[in-house]
Amino acid sequence: MAKVLAVNAGSSSLKFQLFDMPQEDVICSGVVEKIGLDEGIFTIKYGDQKKVLNTEIKDHQVAVDLLLEALVNEGIVDSLEDIDAIGHRMVHGGEAYSESVVVSEEVVETVSQFNELAPLHNPANLIGLRAFQKALPNVQHVFVFDTAFHQSMKEENYLYPLPYEYYTDYKVRKYGFHGTSHQYVSQEAIKMLGNPDHSKVIVCHLGNGASISAVKDGKCMDTSMGFTPLAGIMMGTRSGEVDPSIMPYLMKKLDCSADEVLDIYNKKSGMLGVSGISSDARDIEEAYNQGNERAILTSKMYARSISKYISQYYGELGGCDAIAFTAGLGENSAYLRKMIIDDIKEAFDIVLDDTLNETRQSGNRVISKDNSHIKIMIIPTNEEVMIARDTVRLLNL
Ligand code: ADP
Repeated sequence: MAKVLAVNAGSSSLKFQLFDMPQEDVICSGVVEKIGLDEGIFTIKYGDQKKVLNTEIKDHQVAVDLLLEALVNEGIVDSLEDIDAIGHRMVHGGEAYSESVVVSEEVVETVSQFNELAPLHNPANLIGLRAFQKALPNVQHVFVFDTAFHQSMKEENYLYPLPYEYYTDYKVRKYGFHGTSHQYVSQEAIKMLGNPDHSKVIVCHLGNGASISAVKDGKCMDTSMGFTPLAGIMMGTRSGEVDPSIMPYLMKKLDCSADEVLDIYNKKSGMLGVSGISSDARDIEEAYNQGNERAILTSKMYARSISKYISQYYGELGGCDAIAFTAGLGENSAYLRKMIIDDIKEAFDIVLDDTLNETRQSGNRVISKDNSHIKIMIIPTNEEVMIARDTVRLLNL
């Protein structure tokens, strides 16, 4: 038995889950929000308890100390020595890591080289590591990368048709993101297929950020996000793919810089930009049900951007055994799942079970009928458990 803390440190937040492994029981979970702002919020849940503390949380060190103090004071652990290891979400592992890794100073140095590829995430993830190392100097750490699962893509899928030197000199290529989720969900889908020797799975991770991946025999073959998480399908506020020439055209029209247009692509586009209503699928659904034309258009565009990828990946994989929906919208939005499947059901002989699709339920489930050529699944993602599993495996706990 080992107690493993899974940590996801962002620039102003720190999410955590403490697991009893290998049973994968969640002992406690929570989040520290608004780190560095006047009013921080620390929330911790354990058993049937939930505690919320509003206080200034100056930096990540204060956040970590607050969390560790709460673990002892609330009697969640007898002492901090009960924590056997910590697994950290690390967004970018570049081409150096196709697997999770035990943290050493050399690893930290290598990962730091990718800071410019993920400036919003990697430095924050590293600050989280340092804060835990200071508070618990004897505990071992593991990095679990968002990019690692996608490292099995072949050159023809990860290279852009740009001068080759930009790849060799500047690391410009497709990396893909949400890898931990794609790996977890595809593994669960393969289990649900009965663990066949060969499998072809398409994972649709549809949250605020969203990406699709094609997984053959458990390995990522292709994915929709690219050099950055802006690429691929339409998202809550991100455009996904647009013609690159729109950038200089808008710079002239709006008299603004490339960074400002990029900001529009990242924060004011996608569902929010097209609908003019919200980036949240629940608001779009409400407006859709009221017959709002822009919400109807947004829904159609969103579904189409996903069904196009599914069609492409069906071709790349040479067929498909299962399409698995996951993350906030993938797990919860029945009407968008239906619109996506409606787009492709004729081509791929898919028969969705409308009742199962609309039934609210927890856990992994199949929502297609038995005569469907492809099984349609809902698989709630669990990146934290993947982090805990890899930590246990790499440290032989
Ligand atoms: P992220 O981790 O990328 O922030 P999540 O996976 O939490 O995103 O997904 C958030 C999105 O999921 C929300 O913006 C919303 O669009 C969608 N979502 C969450 N719950 C529901 C629901 N009940 N119905 C439809 N969409 C939902």
